[in-house]
Amino acid sequence: MKGVVFTGNRTLEVRDFPEPTAGRGEVVIRIEATGICGSDLHVYRGAHDMNQIGGHEPCGTVVEVGEDIVRLKVGDRVTVHHHHGCGVCEQCARGETVRCLYDHQVYGVGRPGSFAEYMAAGEANCIPLPEPLTPADGACMACVGTTAYAALRRIEAKPHETLAVFGLGPVGLSAVLVGKALGMRVAGVDVIEERLRLAGACGADEVIDGREEGVVERLHEFSRTPGIGWIDGVDCLVETSGATAAREWMIDALRRKGRIAIVGVGGQEKVINPSQIHGKACTIVGSVVFPLGWSWDFAHFLLASGMSFEPMVTHRYPLASAADAMAMADSGKCGKVLMEPGG
Ligand SMILES: [Zn+2]
Ligand SMILES: [Zn+2]
Repeated sequence: MKGVVFTGNRTLEVRDFPEPTAGRGEVVIRIEATGICGSDLHVYRGAHDMNQIGGHEPCGTVVEVGEDIVRLKVGDRVTVHHHHGCGVCEQCARGETVRCLYDHQVYGVGRPGSFAEYMAAGEANCIPLPEPLTPADGACMACVGTTAYAALRRIEAKPHETLAVFGLGPVGLSAVLVGKALGMRVAGVDVIEERLRLAGACGADEVIDGREEGVVERLHEFSRTPGIGWIDGVDCLVETSGATAAREWMIDALRRKGRIAIVGVGGQEKVINPSQIHGKACTIVGSVVFPLGWSWDFAHFLLASGMSFEPMVTHRYPLASAADAMAMADSGKCGKVLMEPGG
């Protein structure tokens, strides 16, 4: 089968690999769609030759089951939580496979990933993907989409509240979609034209160009509920950009007792003044990935709300065009970029 290996400094190779077989507790999945994530871009831009099939946002159909498989069968459609754990340690018991003490591996890094025709995955990591969820939905659920859902869950976002999303890449656009599915009023902020347009297509009530003056003032204006009066500042804010300017604005953009989730990895500059946090009596939480059980919750959420990730998918490539797919994702002038090894 074909698989994509990042070879350093924005180069990659589409190589031949033997098809994987299902080990004990594992299934083999025929990949239908797999997303390119910001963390893939970090690897792609880096100097390191990974010598491993990349990709950690798989979605596909089970084609083989190994020994000791409990619930999955051939033909099941699944998405895969990208952090593999031992399944038996205290962290895994809490669903925190991302902090597994004995066997923590990320697909596409420590284990062969999803930029391939087939991938082996642990049964525990496989989440059912019922109709009408699409392969694109499944790929987004594996990482970026559930990351956005987890950020909103950690700051206890509520339907009647306002949400500002800073940075409108795939995680930010996912936050727009999930916020709208929750019933929130949502404003998106970015500095790239294509992304602002996409946020509108994903249902954002207002889009704000971060290159223009007065971002904080516009968010205050946005936060005033017509007919009720106003509280200056949004209730919730998800920061995905990692940009220094966004970090400087975020507390000012917030109402008193508002909540912020920091999702974006960014610079090291110290731009937050603790006196501001005190003055606003606000809550700032770091939000990194999500426990395994939240993937199941999110599948229920998508079915109950009817939400789809399709509005944020802008490009689909066959595996043979992986170089074009990565270059497009690297440009930032796109929404979610998928590879479809099957077609
Ligand atoms: Zn990811
Ligand atoms: Zn473990």
